[in-house]
Amino acid sequence: MNYRHAFHAGNFADVVKHIILVRILSYMMRKETAFRVIDTHAGVGLYDLWGDAAERTGEWREGIGRLIAHGLPDAAAALVVPYLLAVKAQNPDGGLRYYPGSPFIARHMLRPQDRLMALELHPQDADFLKENFAGDIQTRVTHLDGWAAMGTHLPPKEKRGLVLVDPPFEQKGEFGRMANSLIKAHKRWPGGTYAYWYPIKDPADVTAYATALKATGIPRILRLELTIRAPSTPPRLHGSGMVVINPPYVLEEEMKIILPALAALLADEGRGRFRIEWIRGEA
Ligand code: SAM
Repeated sequence: MNYRHAFHAGNFADVVKHIILVRILSYMMRKETAFRVIDTHAGVGLYDLWGDAAERTGEWREGIGRLIAHGLPDAAAALVVPYLLAVKAQNPDGGLRYYPGSPFIARHMLRPQDRLMALELHPQDADFLKENFAGDIQTRVTHLDGWAAMGTHLPPKEKRGLVLVDPPFEQKGEFGRMANSLIKAHKRWPGGTYAYWYPIKDPADVTAYATALKATGIPRILRLELTIRAPSTPPRLHGSGMVVINPPYVLEEEMKIILPALAALLADEGRGRFRIEWIRGEA
């Protein structure tokens, strides 16, 4: 387990991922009924953008740094307000030093009736995460394998909510593992909303993944992607993807507003591309 998210926190991929996260939760908040967020690969929760790791790559400057400096056109700007508020909440004195990871962003969106379950396998990161949520009765942090936890913690007792799956992709075969985990999770909880993040490095891997997801027969799978550069050899990260199963019905339209705006802002000049496509629609 070598992956450290601190090097990448707040980069373009995080921005896209976390905006999708807040759009899904904003929709869930429309109903009073409680929901639960299960964050299977949570990281440490909060990142110091002035720290060594983040400074070494400087990736955040081309992600959240650009978004805060330049903003988005009005319609898109309105949709990213909850995300930027979650970032601002960690920087109460103004400026941008701390970046909230997915569990902090999800926590920011919870109402008193909602719950967050955050899983992290790296022992030290799990300890940091526990410290970061110490005393918070709405959040349970567990040092556990997120894949295994999906087998035992679904469906949640609220029967309403989101499972966010954001693995580090440091092992071969991670795309296959994602598809298999979805098949199992969906059997246990067909009505849940699932958001599975993936890196876009080698387009062939992504095409094979989409084909495998389609072959599962699971309905209502929305594919959302943003690429900021052309693919390169050897493959390096040039795009951020998310498949959302059982997305809120408004998500597709919202992403039609958000993704073009992010493509214009975050990509190399004229290189931004986006994709909004149903891998499978209704059953
Ligand atoms: N979701 C976080 C966010 O958006 O802020 C970033 C997560 S990072 C991409 C992936 C995390 O998964 C790392 O912190 C890594 O230690 C953790 N991890 C790796 N394998 C895991 C597993 N099997 N179960 C739970 N966590 C795992």
